[in-house]
Amino acid sequence: MRPFGTTIFAEMSALAVRTGAVNLGQGFPDTDGPPEMLAAAAQALAGGANQYPPLAGIPALRHAIVEHEQRFWGLARDPDTEVVVTAGATEAVAAAILALCEPGDEVVCFEPYYDSYAASITLAGAVRRPVTLRPGPDGRYAFDEAELRAAFGPRTRLVLLNTPHNPTGKVFTPAELALIADLCQRHDTYAVTDEVYEHLVFDAPHTPLAGLPGMRERTLRISSAGKTFSCTGWKVGWATGPARLVSAVLRVKQFLTFVNAAPLQPAVAVALRLPDAYFTGFTATLRANRDRLVAGLTAAGFGVLPSEGTYFVTADIRPLGGTDGVEFCRELPGRAGVVAVPTQVFYDHQDAGRHLIRFAFCKRAEVIDDAVDRLRKLA
Ligand code: PMP
Ligand code: GLN
Repeated sequence: MRPFGTTIFAEMSALAVRTGAVNLGQGFPDTDGPPEMLAAAAQALAGGANQYPPLAGIPALRHAIVEHEQRFWGLARDPDTEVVVTAGATEAVAAAILALCEPGDEVVCFEPYYDSYAASITLAGAVRRPVTLRPGPDGRYAFDEAELRAAFGPRTRLVLLNTPHNPTGKVFTPAELALIADLCQRHDTYAVTDEVYEHLVFDAPHTPLAGLPGMRERTLRISSAGKTFSCTGWKVGWATGPARLVSAVLRVKQFLTFVNAAPLQPAVAVALRLPDAYFTGFTATLRANRDRLVAGLTAAGFGVLPSEGTYFVTADIRPLGGTDGVEFCRELPGRAGVVAVPTQVFYDHQDAGRHLIRFAFCKRAEVIDDAVDRLRKLA
């Protein structure tokens, strides 16, 4: 694991603390989640929910996960056999890859990719086959169809898909998902989908790959409470899918963490059952934040790529004279008092992202405004 070093998120958040800069690097909200959820956690703590919960998660949470998937995505699951609660989406991704891959198997993914993917694939002794997302003429990130087709081969075990996509803010289109689904079936592979930003789509709807024809039986769908309920420090996630895949994840999970945070589980169950108004309000707030940051970064002189979802927007540093995002982000606290994350660290083919950096907008409006005021000094 030596090549993996320290994650960029830890490095950049430490830099923000050290320099007193506004931290638009690591994606975490600066407001708390729904009060009903927080109250339920406090009540569970005081009420004695403090010992090991069941391996797959408490029944109330498994039922709530199933109800939520049915309500928003029309997916029907059995809460007893088709759901597993995990230590965040991170554990679900790791356990899924460890469960499904033999050493030497290949995992098709899209770069830039969330950093834990490369590490989890390596831990499984598997090999990543990244397909590069590149901004097209309209600025939207897309992949080359021939490149995706070529990434599949006899050793392909699974496709690891993140939509809405961190760090680009891309939301995969129905046509792109249909192509991925077709290739999974043609090559008889699994799909593992990371949908932690499922409620953060601003312009077009989110579509789970598991809902496409022929995909339910071969897809593990992963999500997490962290983003949807602004509690990234809780690390309550889950995977849903056909019983044989969920049971494979459970087999691994029992030796990674065994079980997770007992008092937080009933609280996340409460949150998942909140009325639709919570979810639409949450999306609207983040959409307004996106618009605010996009306008501010544009005014500050960055080239700004469209963000269709997630917490993040990508900025091109070349109009401000930058060439290397890592260097730019290391200097940014000193030059402007702001922290961002260089996108190139999420690529195998780093040249594709050398001039791009990522800003997070999961922050209060006044924090975004403060950051933008500071960034205006760069012009
Ligand atoms: N996947 C993606 C795409 C993410 O951005 C994150 C980060 N928050 C995670 C997984 C990890 O989620 P969790 O904190 O629930 O482990
Ligand atoms: N998902 C968050 C991000 O992309 C950070 C998660 C982490 O710090 N590992 O910023």
